[in-house]
Amino acid sequence: MKKPEHQTGIRTLAVHAGEQPDPSTGASAPNIVMSTTFIAEPDASFSVEGLDEETPFIYTRWGNPTIDQLERKLAALEAAEACIAFSSGMAAVTALFLHTLESGDHVIVSDVCYAATAEMTSDLLPRMGISVTKVNLSDPDELRRAATPRTRLVYAETPCNPLLRLTDIGKVAEIAASAGARLVVDSTFATPVATKPLTLGADYVVHSLTKYLGGHGDAIGGALLGPAGELADLRKRVAIRTGGIISPFNAWLIMRGMATLPLRMRAHAEGALKVARFLEGHPRVKRVIYPGLPSHPQHDLAVRQMGNFSGMLTFQVEDGQAAAKVLAERLGIIHYAVSLGHHRSLVFYLSTRELLESSFRLTGEQLVSYREFAGDGVFRLSVGLEDPDDLCNDLDRALNHL
Ligand SMILES: *Cc1c(COP(=O)(O)O)cnc(C)c1O
Repeated sequence: MKKPEHQTGIRTLAVHAGEQPDPSTGASAPNIVMSTTFIAEPDASFSVEGLDEETPFIYTRWGNPTIDQLERKLAALEAAEACIAFSSGMAAVTALFLHTLESGDHVIVSDVCYAATAEMTSDLLPRMGISVTKVNLSDPDELRRAATPRTRLVYAETPCNPLLRLTDIGKVAEIAASAGARLVVDSTFATPVATKPLTLGADYVVHSLTKYLGGHGDAIGGALLGPAGELADLRKRVAIRTGGIISPFNAWLIMRGMATLPLRMRAHAEGALKVARFLEGHPRVKRVIYPGLPSHPQHDLAVRQMGNFSGMLTFQVEDGQAAAKVLAERLGIIHYAVSLGHHRSLVFYLSTRELLESSFRLTGEQLVSYREFAGDGVFRLSVGLEDPDDLCNDLDRALNHL
């Protein structure tokens, strides 16, 4: 059978890329190959040094047919040369840091990003002798000022968690390149349906597959995408040796979820826009932030950079901490829980004071910008695939108890 071509539409790629019918049984759906080891040639090498594209499967930490299919599918969706899947999004971030950085290097990280990334860059990296500057990357001039000849990596997240503030990837890529640094974009909130950072000048893309790509809240996984040569090197030197690889079973679940990604993202975005508009008109709601709303401070950039506004929004109410209790008790459809990107809608309250103390520790203009988007705290709502009217009614019933 012929393979789908690179320029095939995203829905076709999501269904077919990376997969092929099993040559021995003709099975149309991919197998789950749970085997940890594979029958080897008597002259096979026991070292990863000689590993290349042609090496047969030897041991699942080195490579596995089911994981390989997931990696090929995601690479096709992101228009990437290569992909490595990991046991979690954070394992992917860790592997990238270990591969690209060494003692004495400088990294610029978005001042607001996924909490574990923020915590790792304020704690682990400095302990390894790597200096870190946190920058509000929604302002490219801040990046220009912070870059030094020692800057190796610029780490962006757009839309960023939990603010949904955006970074102009093309602009930031240009500045990073002229400073001699590589740009990595955590594109978990956007997904390749909305944005393909590599086509805008980024060097690497990171995903938590746990979120939209898996899409069903039943498997944790992560991925790193980028140039083939570098990723082959990273796989040998870091991924295989540090061992944060994904289970073939999770890879299979996530690949199954990815087949419907373009359709799900369309429904997530449509639902989120309806819910965002409803919340914007609700008397108990002070502020709604959603990239698809004209009221988003960077709506123009969202229109330019995002082919789909995704399903994440935040809203603010009076005394959010108290409201969190009411919502957790009163919501009937929407689960009060962390995580995002699932078919089930999820909501969680993120107090500004708490997040700033535990993760972000911002001061000055960065703090002002954070508060501009989040006030004292936000409800982060991941709009699922339920009927939007049911979600609005669920929220209305709970909010009217405030
Ligand atoms: C969840 C998340 C991560 C971490 O992914 P895990 O799979 O939980 O390790 C990283 N970045 C963003 C934006 C996320 O939402």
